[in-house]
Amino acid sequence: MSTESPLSSVRRQVQDIPAYPYVPSRARIKLDQNESPYDFPAELKEKAVQRMLERPWQRYTDLNTTELRSAIGRLEGWDPAGVVVSSGSNVMIKVLTELAGIGQTVLTTDPTFAVYPLEAGMLGAELVKVPVQDDLSLPVEALKKELASRGPGLFVLIQPQAPTGHADRPEVVRDLVEIAAAHGWLTVIDEAYYQFSGTNYLNLVREHPGVLSLRTFSKAWGLAGLRLGYALAHPELAAQLSKLVPAFSINVLTQSALEVAMEHPGYVQQRVEENARERDRMLAALEGHPHWKAWPSQTNFFLIQTPDDAAAVRLLEEHDVVVRGQKGLPVLGDCLRVSVGQPADNDAFLQAAAAAR
Ligand SMILES: *Cc1c(COP(=O)(O)O)cnc(C)c1O
Repeated sequence: MSTESPLSSVRRQVQDIPAYPYVPSRARIKLDQNESPYDFPAELKEKAVQRMLERPWQRYTDLNTTELRSAIGRLEGWDPAGVVVSSGSNVMIKVLTELAGIGQTVLTTDPTFAVYPLEAGMLGAELVKVPVQDDLSLPVEALKKELASRGPGLFVLIQPQAPTGHADRPEVVRDLVEIAAAHGWLTVIDEAYYQFSGTNYLNLVREHPGVLSLRTFSKAWGLAGLRLGYALAHPELAAQLSKLVPAFSINVLTQSALEVAMEHPGYVQQRVEENARERDRMLAALEGHPHWKAWPSQTNFFLIQTPDDAAAVRLLEEHDVVVRGQKGLPVLGDCLRVSVGQPADNDAFLQAAAAAR
């Protein structure tokens, strides 16, 4: 019997990184994961299942995901040779870190979407985080300095930003992308929430072969459970990315359901409009709150500064509402991240919030 630890061969970097930071709650009103509050329309679910039933399950799916990539290409007006799909954009973040981060630098803001630092840490990329400005906008000058003095590597721009919901001015994003390109960085513009903000950076991807847009079906499309993310890039870059995406990782259900969704995209816009109305209603209702300060947002979630995030999370849970606590964010301190739900859920949240005094 060996006395060695089962972890003796596990790389230090993996052991040192905490597991994905999420604890499920029993609370009924779920405003913690920026999901759509509405399920995929029932008649489209039926169609998706029907299509899945018609396909062979004993066969591997198409290695090149040709039909899915063509459908995304049609939807986005993009050459399918420049479309890369993965089982969620979280997987693509790992792939991007493998592509341009390992042994190099990952440059992002602070705060940023948690998966970027997580992957940089586990895969052994040098992580550089630059605090956002006091109004949550991009720290342009500080980022420019890092872009010019470090690198090459992966430059992460999230637009609109997560977890703040702040959308920057397009001129600012263009400026940073051009400097990154001039210094040989690979730039990912993570556009997980672009439908909510009405922004779209494909023009920059078109102009720069080292820039790509990362998108997902998990948020505005309301299909987080199907797991599909995609990158839009120049075909040469897409070919390199594709080498790193695990083969056959898109299953029959995901392919069938996504094809049906893209044939019936009409429901998305309607939901985006309701989200904006509800978000603005919630923000207006929170305006006079004695202890909580809500920040404006261009997405389907927003931040609230609180004196103590854990206490606020507990209070809301007592009212059957679950949100995400964010401890000690740079610039902001303790925050709640609240997803916009259905109107009745949002009412319940506002009632619970009123009890925080
Ligand atoms: C939700 C989110 C993603 C990814 O989600 P997937 O479900 O893995 O596609 C990526 N980036 C940001 C900023 C997000 O908020």
